[in-house]
Amino acid sequence: MSCIFCKIISGEIPGEMLHQDDEIVAFRDINPRAPIHILIVPRKHIAAMNEMADSDLPLLGKMAGVAKQLAKAEGISERGYRLVVNCGLEGGQSVPHLHMHLLGGRQLSGKMA
Ligand code: AMP
Repeated sequence: MSCIFCKIISGEIPGEMLHQDDEIVAFRDINPRAPIHILIVPRKHIAAMNEMADSDLPLLGKMAGVAKQLAKAEGISERGYRLVVNCGLEGGQSVPHLHMHLLGGRQLSGKMA
């Protein structure tokens, strides 16, 4: 198992865990691009959006639900935040394990990237 997010999920390498349930974990991004930058990650190793089977799609809703809860817990619900899923090379994906970014705590650019 060489996937860095699988290693964080299994506890083999440390992560600042903020949420864990039977399907989803969330931990702080090691290289934060905003005061709040959290990664919401399914335990199941799915390499990217493109690799999601139809039966995996409910996970995205669960990830969004965890993101919403964490935004509230981190105090950014009212000010606003951004959820991002990068896919593939041109999408800017660098870790090949599906994840959602929760970004907030500063005014984010109006541009998408
Ligand atoms: P992406 O570019 O969408 O694939 O996002 C991958 C994210 O994972 C980047 O924002 C990295 O900073 C983050 N990252 C990489 N390694 C770690 C790690 N060991 N712990 C926490 N976040 C990480």
